[in-house]
Amino acid sequence: MNKSKIYLSSPHMGGNEQKYIDEAFDQNWIAPLGPNVTGFENDLEGYLGKDVKVAALSSGTAALHLALILCGVERGDEVLCQSLTFAASANPIVYLGATPVFIDSEKDTYNISPEFLEEAIKDRIKKGKKPKALIAVHLYGMPYKVEEIHAIASRYNIPVIEDSAEALGSTYKGEKCGTFGDFAILSFNGNKIITTSGGGALVSKDPKMKEKAIFLATQARDAAPHYQHSEIGYNYRLSNISAGIGRGQMEVLDAHISKRREMNFFYNDIFGGVKGVKVLNEPENTYFCNHWLTVIIVEKEAFNTDALREDLEELNIESRPLWKPMHLQPVFWEAPFYGNGVAEEAFKTGLCLPSGSNLNDEEKNRIKTAIRNFLQ
Ligand SMILES: *Cc1c(COP(=O)(O)O)cnc(C)c1O
Repeated sequence: MNKSKIYLSSPHMGGNEQKYIDEAFDQNWIAPLGPNVTGFENDLEGYLGKDVKVAALSSGTAALHLALILCGVERGDEVLCQSLTFAASANPIVYLGATPVFIDSEKDTYNISPEFLEEAIKDRIKKGKKPKALIAVHLYGMPYKVEEIHAIASRYNIPVIEDSAEALGSTYKGEKCGTFGDFAILSFNGNKIITTSGGGALVSKDPKMKEKAIFLATQARDAAPHYQHSEIGYNYRLSNISAGIGRGQMEVLDAHISKRREMNFFYNDIFGGVKGVKVLNEPENTYFCNHWLTVIIVEKEAFNTDALREDLEELNIESRPLWKPMHLQPVFWEAPFYGNGVAEEAFKTGLCLPSGSNLNDEEKNRIKTAIRNFLQ
């Protein structure tokens, strides 16, 4: 075990991050505002296109919290949310005293199921409460069924918050993930496709919403020379130092996505002929996945993913089960759930494999040899 650890996804600097940080120091912009914050927001707006507006925030979780507030979610409301996701997608619903209603996945993208989404909406309305918002997730960078999901949401007039934390650079029908919802959120945590060491962003279509998000993220100060507040505010803005890292990362984003996609080809090659193993790939060519993480789903008859995970661990190679669905989490045991077991099955039989853009040939060989030996 003296070989260096191979991580699922580790930070990968492009080179210019330090330059932007040095500029911040030179100009004494050591604060949660400044030229890097504005520059990073401009970079993201240009990258996403479609004239969206971006507010840089301290985390993806903070962005979700503000998106829910801007959708008008209040105590006692219900919010629809994909069950197969990271807890950060759902926690902000509870911060607001609202209740999450969890929805199962479909088997093409493993994201929110259109069928169960509509069933849930109808049933919640019948029970007397129309959900206030929907949080749909492009999990592992794979776009969800954008057209179907948004058609259902708009039929019932429910705003969509697109959790694009893992999907910066992914596209659906040529348009970037993060530009479909009424709001979208991005994350720049250490393990994401790009990192600011910790950070996030709220994307909206309306410049007024960006303004309101920044107002709320900077303690909701009214326009007055003294500190006056008519609303509860938050301290959620991104620091100018972190944003400097983000500007450097934006310069290499597309190159790093190519590397992640190469990792996906690498696993497709390894598992190509293996019966019962499905590498999660785009279901159609209208989808383009950044392959933040490559995921395999394995039939029970083929092999046990826990055994593979333990073998890899022995060799200092990190792998991890899929996100444990929210409706199975102890903290959400009371929340309603609509589905038929797809997310649960994926959790039990899936595995995330090392997918970083910075893995070298020697590391790839270690991974390949380890998996091939396991399969024999
Ligand atoms: C990382 C992540 C978040 C939260 O982002 P943070 O920046 O870590 O707060 C939300 N949703 C999903 C799906 C994520 O992977």
